[in-house]
Amino acid sequence: MTHYWILGGIIVVWVGASFFLSRLGETKEIGKKRLFILSLALTPLIGLALYLSSPHRKMYMYKEVFYKCNTCGYTFSEKHEYCPFCEKDGIKSVLVPKNKIMT
Ligand SMILES: [Zn+2]
Repeated sequence: MTHYWILGGIIVVWVGASFFLSRLGETKEIGKKRLFILSLALTPLIGLALYLSSPHRKMYMYKEVFYKCNTCGYTFSEKHEYCPFCEKDGIKSVLVPKNKIMT
C-alpha cells in the first residue's frame, strides 16, 4: 500500500509545483495558463526552465510603495515614523503608506 502514498505524494507535488509556476508566469510573456499546462504535461522542471527563459511582459506593471504625509502633502520613498518636514515645525504627522502603480 505504501507505494500508493508515494505516487499520490508525487502527483500532489507535481500539480502543486505546476500551479505555483503558473502563478509566477502571470508576469511573463508565456502566460499563466500555458505555463500551467506545459509544466503539468512536461514536468514542472521543464516548466521552470520555460519560466526562466520567458521574457517579462512588455506591459508589466509593478507597485512601488511610498509614504505620504497628509499634513504637507509631501511623499517619501523611505519609511519614516513621522514626516521629517512637519516634525521640524513641531507637528508629529504619521506617514501613510500608499501603492503607486508604475508602468
Ligand atoms: Zn508633512
